[in-house]
Amino acid sequence: MAEPPSGALVLFSGGQDSSVCLAWALDRYARVETVGFDYGQRHRAELAARQAMRAGMAERFPAWAARLGGDHMLDQRGFGAIGETALTTERAIEITERGLPSTFVPGRNLVFFVYAAALADRLGLETLVGGMCETDYSGYPDCRRATLDAMETVLELGIERAFPIATPLMRLTKAETWALAKGLGGEALVELIRAESHTCYLGRRDGAHDWGLGCGACPACELRAKGWREWADAGRPAMTP
Ligand code: ZN
Repeated sequence: MAEPPSGALVLFSGGQDSSVCLAWALDRYARVETVGFDYGQRHRAELAARQAMRAGMAERFPAWAARLGGDHMLDQRGFGAIGETALTTERAIEITERGLPSTFVPGRNLVFFVYAAALADRLGLETLVGGMCETDYSGYPDCRRATLDAMETVLELGIERAFPIATPLMRLTKAETWALAKGLGGEALVELIRAESHTCYLGRRDGAHDWGLGCGACPACELRAKGWREWADAGRPAMTP
């Protein structure tokens, strides 16, 4: 068997899921860098959350600070202009005729992985880490593990180098994602993610709910609130990474 990979590039949006993925990677890999994508999001709150989360993890977890390398922001606004969904324009969040939320940007995750692989190759990082999840998700077809398995094949064929795509949250519920956060960094990490990660589709940072900040009514806030409630009702268990 090959040596375990030592470096990872985390697709990092500043949301709850990718924040837990960043902690998971920092727990596991000797060198971790982050990449974010500016695709013309209507709201800049999640871009600001990225920096607060990185700084918070480095400050509260010295062992992780030593592993946390650079942050890279890639301009995807040209792609965002093609997508024209509720995330990038003032269109209402609704279910479209295709049965997908209007927040779905066709092919977005596929594009992210091509860019991330090119960057990881340049940085000498072996593994790509993404917070995709097909348990409590919105039905995005490019979040499915089958899609990412195919993407691994495409990347390896097209770049002639293996790019394992790690998706630690793929089979977890939102409640289990909180449990994993606690297992990785205790209540300190839970509090950091609760307070600093950004989920709300409307870009709101108000409300001071027990699960964090946000409008409380959009599909992303509802999913986050539901997961928090289930985790809290279960006695805030910790999941071993
Ligand atoms: Zn919201």
